[in-house]
Amino acid sequence: PPKENPQVVIDAHGLPYQNPKLPVKQRVADLLARMSPAEKAGQMTQAERNALSSQGDIATYDLGSLLSGGGSVPTPNTAAAWARMVDGYQLRAQATRFQIPLIYGVDAVHGHNNVIGSTIMPHNVGLGATRDPRTVEKTGAVTANEVRATGIPWDFAPCLCVSRDDRWGRAYEAYGEDPALVESLETVIQGMQGAASGKDLDRNDKVLATAKHYVGDGGTEYGSSTTGSYPIDQGVTKVTRQELEAVHLAPFDDAVKRGVGTVMPSYSSLDILGDDEGPVKMHANAEMINGVLKDRMGFEGFVISDWQAIDQIPGAYASDVRTSVNAGLDMIMVPTAYKDFTKTLQDEVTAGRITQARIDDAVSRILTQKFRLGLFEKPYADTSNLDKVGSAEHRAVAREAAAKSQVLLKNDGGVLPLKSTQKVYVAGSNADDIGNQAGGWTVSWQGSSGNITPGTTILSAMKKDAASVTYSKDASAATDGYDVGVVVVGETPYAEGIGDVGNGHDLELSAADKAAVDKVCAAMKCAVLIVSGRPQLIGDRLDGIDALVASWLPGTEGDGVADVLFGKRAFTGQLPVTWPKSEAQLPINVGDAAYDPQFPYGWGLTTLKKPPAGGELTLGALALAAQVAERTGLGRTDVGRTIVGQARLLVQQKTGGKVTEAVSKPFADADHLLLTGDLTGAVAKLRAAYLAA
Ligand code: BGC
Repeated sequence: PPKENPQVVIDAHGLPYQNPKLPVKQRVADLLARMSPAEKAGQMTQAERNALSSQGDIATYDLGSLLSGGGSVPTPNTAAAWARMVDGYQLRAQATRFQIPLIYGVDAVHGHNNVIGSTIMPHNVGLGATRDPRTVEKTGAVTANEVRATGIPWDFAPCLCVSRDDRWGRAYEAYGEDPALVESLETVIQGMQGAASGKDLDRNDKVLATAKHYVGDGGTEYGSSTTGSYPIDQGVTKVTRQELEAVHLAPFDDAVKRGVGTVMPSYSSLDILGDDEGPVKMHANAEMINGVLKDRMGFEGFVISDWQAIDQIPGAYASDVRTSVNAGLDMIMVPTAYKDFTKTLQDEVTAGRITQARIDDAVSRILTQKFRLGLFEKPYADTSNLDKVGSAEHRAVAREAAAKSQVLLKNDGGVLPLKSTQKVYVAGSNADDIGNQAGGWTVSWQGSSGNITPGTTILSAMKKDAASVTYSKDASAATDGYDVGVVVVGETPYAEGIGDVGNGHDLELSAADKAAVDKVCAAMKCAVLIVSGRPQLIGDRLDGIDALVASWLPGTEGDGVADVLFGKRAFTGQLPVTWPKSEAQLPINVGDAAYDPQFPYGWGLTTLKKPPAGGELTLGALALAAQVAERTGLGRTDVGRTIVGQARLLVQQKTGGKVTEAVSKPFADADHLLLTGDLTGAVAKLRAAYLAA
C-alpha cells in the first residue's frame, strides 16, 4: 500500500457492508441503502486515468472506475510502476465516505500487453488455430496472474467476436469465423476468473473478464460504417434473427453460463432483417441488452460501455445517457466527460426519465463484483506475484500456444521440418521484429514495429536450433549454397479501424515481401511464413513456394515457431478462418453456397509421425469415437477436433503426405459439422475424403 495510507482496516466503522463474513447480497443492500445520488452516479462512471483534471477528482466525483486505454502507461512502464500507479488511485478512493474501492480496468487482450516485459500471447486468431481449449485456458490464467499482480482486477477480454470478413481491422481479435470454435475456447474465461460461481475472484491471480463486443461486431457489412474512415469496423450487422442467434449470440450465451463478470456492447449497429426497425446502435439496444442478455440469458454481472460509445447514439447528450442506461448499460466508459456524465445522469433521474430502480440495479451489479473481487478487504496490489510478470514459467505457456497455433498450409517434398544440420537462409520483413510478431495492442494501442518489448524473434529462435543461419531482410545477399530458405513476411501492427496502414489497407503482401519471396524461392527450396492477423493473398505465387505456414501473430515467444519449424513439436494447427483466393471473394466463410477458397476452414497439414493415440485407426473406429464423444457431450469440443485430425492423418499416411485440395474440403466440412454436433454428416464427409485419397 502507498505510504500515506497503510492497508485500511476494514472493520473501522463496523458497518454490515464492511463485514466479509456476510453474504455479498446483504453487503450490497446495506451499502446501497446508505449511498447518495451522487455516490451512485459515480459508481456508474469510468474515466480514463490520463483524463483526470486532478487525482482528487476520484473522491470529488465518487468515481467507481478508472481505465488505462490502450497505451496509457506509467513512466517507467514496468510492472512495479503499474502497481504503484493503480495503488495511488485506489488511495484516493479510500478518501471517500464509504471507502468504496475503484475497479481498475485494462485491455490485456493477449497477455498484460501494455506492460513492457510482460508475456505476450499469440493473438486470438492464433489461439483459434490451436483448437485447444486447455492451452487457451492456460493463456487466460497467465494473463490474469500478470494483470492482478499489478493491482488490476479487471480485464476487457476476451473478444468473443465471430469474424466473418478478413477486411475487418479487428479480425485477429477473434478466435475464428465459426461460433462453435469460439465457444469451445471460452475456457479462457475460467483461466481468467476461475470457477463459474465467482468464488475464485478474490485470489491474487484472478481477474474479472469481459465478454466483448456484444453483439455482432464481427459481422458488420463492408462499407456500412459511418465512423471516420472505417469501411467496416463499427458498421452495421445485417442478419436474420436465426443467423443472429446461431452465429453471434451463441458465444455470449456460453460466456454467461461460464459466469463472465462483465459484458461490453459493440460500437456497431444491429439490423435484424425482416424487422421494421432498421439499424439500432448496440449501446441503445434495449431489446438485446435488457431483453436478451439480462432477462433471457440471465446475465448477473454488469454491462460496461465501450470507449465514448454512447456519444454515437443519435441525439443530444442527455438523451445518449438516458437511452444507454435505460437500455441496460450499468457503467459508462466516458472516458474524458466524467464531470458532465455524473451530472447529466443525476439530472435524468431527478427528472424521472431514468428510474431509481434502474440506478439501484446498475449500482448493485457493480458493487457485487467489487465485493466478489475482495476489493473492500484488499484494495491495493498484492505485489507478491510481480516477479511472475514475464517469467520463464509464463513464457513457456506462450511458447506452447505459439507452437500449437502454427498452421502448415503446404509442405511439398517435406521441406518442413527443417534439420539442424541444414544451411538456412532467412529473409523477410517479419523474421526479426518482435513488434510485428506481437501485433496491435502491444505496449501502445496500435502496437508498433521494432524492439518494443523483450522476447525472442523468429530469427533469433531459429539461430538457437540451426548450425548455420544467414539473414538478409530484403534478400539482398547472395543466395547460392543454401539448403533451404525461410521467408517471413506479413503485416505491420494495427488495432481497430481498417488495419495494416503500412501495407495499404488490403490483404496483399507488401512489394518488398513479394520480392523477397520470389527471389529466395527461385534460388532454393523455400518455406514462407506469414506473420499476420488475417489471411494474406498468395494467389499463383503459391506454385513457386514449397512450404507455406500461417504463423498469425505469435507474440513474444518466437521459440514456439522455431519449435515446429525444426520438428521439436509437430505442426497441428488448423485454419480458424477460411483462406481466400482473392479479395473479390470476401466475405467468405465455411458453409457458403459458393465456397472455393485457397485453403478451406479447418485446413492444416500435420508433421505428426503417427496418430497421437497410437495403433491402427480406421474410419470405423473414428466414427465410433465420434459417437462416444457425442454421447458424453464432448463432440462439440476438442475431442471433435481430434477426430478430424486423426482422420486427416490417416489420409495423409495413405497418400504419402500429398493431400490435395480435392480432399481438403471434406475435412473442413467434417470439422464444421462436428462443431455443430452433426456426427452422421461429419463421418460421411470423412469417409468421402478417405475414399477420394
Ligand atoms: C475498444 C475496446 C476497448 C476499449 C478500451 C475501445 O476502443 O473498442 O475493445 O476495450 O477501447 O480501451
